[in-house]
Amino acid sequence: MAIDDKQAWAAVMRRDRAFDGQFVTGVLSTGIYCRPSCAARHPARANVRFFADGAQARLAGLRACRRCLPDDVARDEAAVRAAIDAIRSGESPTLEELGAITGYSPTHFSRVFKRTTGLSPAAYARALKEERVRDALSGSERVTDAIYDAGYEAPSRFYAAMEGKMGMSPSAWKNGGRGVTIRWAVVETTLGEMLVAATDKGVCRLSFNEGEAELRARFPEAELAQGGADFSALLGQVIDAVETPGTGQDIPLDVAGTAFQEACWKALRQIPPGETRSYSEIAAAAGNPRAVRAAGTANGANNVAVLIPCHRVIRSDGAIGGYAYGTQIKEELLRREGEPG
Ligand SMILES: [Zn+2]
Repeated sequence: MAIDDKQAWAAVMRRDRAFDGQFVTGVLSTGIYCRPSCAARHPARANVRFFADGAQARLAGLRACRRCLPDDVARDEAAVRAAIDAIRSGESPTLEELGAITGYSPTHFSRVFKRTTGLSPAAYARALKEERVRDALSGSERVTDAIYDAGYEAPSRFYAAMEGKMGMSPSAWKNGGRGVTIRWAVVETTLGEMLVAATDKGVCRLSFNEGEAELRARFPEAELAQGGADFSALLGQVIDAVETPGTGQDIPLDVAGTAFQEACWKALRQIPPGETRSYSEIAAAAGNPRAVRAAGTANGANNVAVLIPCHRVIRSDGAIGGYAYGTQIKEELLRREGEPG
């Protein structure tokens, strides 16, 4: 197999789902074999032998783990793909119908779907609807038409579904932030000049070496203002978070993207400081392992550097990769996070 034992063991230690189907972990002391991501307690390294697949492990006298069902990886993937196709076709299948389509029991299928996409089938369908509304909103239709077109019964249902997800209301977002006040400041940090901007919902832009012109270009219709007691308090928290790696998880953010982009940003926030991921791992964590390029785009569309830690994504060959504000800042952030705390 193309993966060496060291890489395989590292994948097992972080229960990396991206490696499911690429090899199985044989545990000689218990006589079973598992997916790399098996949730069971990790075996001692000395008891582990890696096999290319379940058939090889069975030849060595091992049997499949009943918890992670290592022989079902391909079947699970096909089932999730079939379910996503059914949901995307717009027919709102029930969990029972999805079970029937995929040949799994509804509860088991729900578990498999969630393990793969990070969302329940119903939450996935909702996110898809929201994404379609946003696509329509960026066109020229009236907002209400766009909402009906995307399958919501009434605009009030749409706003209820969006509550807490998208800081700006759909009209404001469509209009470049019209009706929204953005407070902002440029401060000196150890990483250089940092721009911080926030609505009353949370931080909407954190960048380096930018000023009012760049902010204006991003939110052309918003009212830009400086100062304010609430903003000063938030700014203090943001500066602390940037200077002290691994803090700032509680700082509110006001960001809006497609459902997939938001899933990517959520996956980025789950990378522990001191660790990195590849674009394909982010794509898998966001629910679409094949959307590697879209995960790269989502990374680039991140408005809030550091707090959404897009700097923790590196190339799959281990090279550091690019960064919107230059690789020097990225290297420095990773260096600080890698220091024992
Ligand atoms: Zn297992």
